[in-house]
Amino acid sequence: MKNLFNLEGRTALITGASSGLGKHFAKTLHQAGAFVIISARRTEKLEKLKTELGDKCELFKLDVTSEESVSELKSNIESANLQLDILINNAGTSDPQKFKDLSEESWNYVLETNLNGAFRVAKMATDLMLKNKKGGSIINIASILGQRVGLNLSSYATSKSALIQLTKSMALELARSNIRVNALAPGYILTEINDDFFATEEGQNYIKKIPMNRLGLEEDLDGALLLLSSDASSFMTGSVINIDGGHLINPL
Ligand code: NAD
Repeated sequence: MKNLFNLEGRTALITGASSGLGKHFAKTLHQAGAFVIISARRTEKLEKLKTELGDKCELFKLDVTSEESVSELKSNIESANLQLDILINNAGTSDPQKFKDLSEESWNYVLETNLNGAFRVAKMATDLMLKNKKGGSIINIASILGQRVGLNLSSYATSKSALIQLTKSMALELARSNIRVNALAPGYILTEINDDFFATEEGQNYIKKIPMNRLGLEEDLDGALLLLSSDASSFMTGSVINIDGGHLINPL
């Protein structure tokens, strides 16, 4: 039987691959057969991941907040003769602040990374995919906070909500070029940077609001990631897939 999720012969760029979900996404796509381009600011962490993966992997330094850095990444991909098929637009950040205390600097920092950075990389990947004339799949990593709000997260929620609108706008304009653009909207996923918080009483109270009464694990994202990356989703574009244990449908 044809393996719908097989990524042999495909090349995927993953941004923010030095830790957390990005690192996991790179491993998952590599396991499905893809050549992975891992990128982030911390190249020593990327070197470790490259060693772990062994083959079919290239790493390039990337700061999504810098136009020069994104343009350099484009040149690096082209010089290495890599034809981009998949982008996992994952690099992201947050800076929780009460709205009344939110500084313009903090607001700009989050928007610059999560929205402008994602735009920059998506634009670069689109240029490459249009040049290749083979189409492609762009997956923007949004969040359930792009669809509802939480305390002290106005900049983050705004950036992710805008990323969802960008996803749909891109999907509409790029559909005729066979470039599919979709978003994954994870709920609370346990990673190395938030495990301390979720162990606290406040963190445990957050978990109680999730209908499935648990945090997501990185592996819980694999199915949707492979679906959107592969031909299994060949007629899907402009979609937002929520992976949240029912968090978005908790009762009002
Ligand atoms: P993380 O902090 O471990 O990973 C973020 C990655 O982005 C890191 O590798 C970081 O170095 C990179 N990054 C940040 N700024 C960058 C920049 N300017 N240039 C290049 N790389 C940069 O956090 P994570 O939880 O793995 O988050 C990954 C993505 O998933 C983010 O977009 C986040 O908003 C989203 N997300 C996470 C969760 C969750 O519960 N963990 C839930 C919903 C959405």
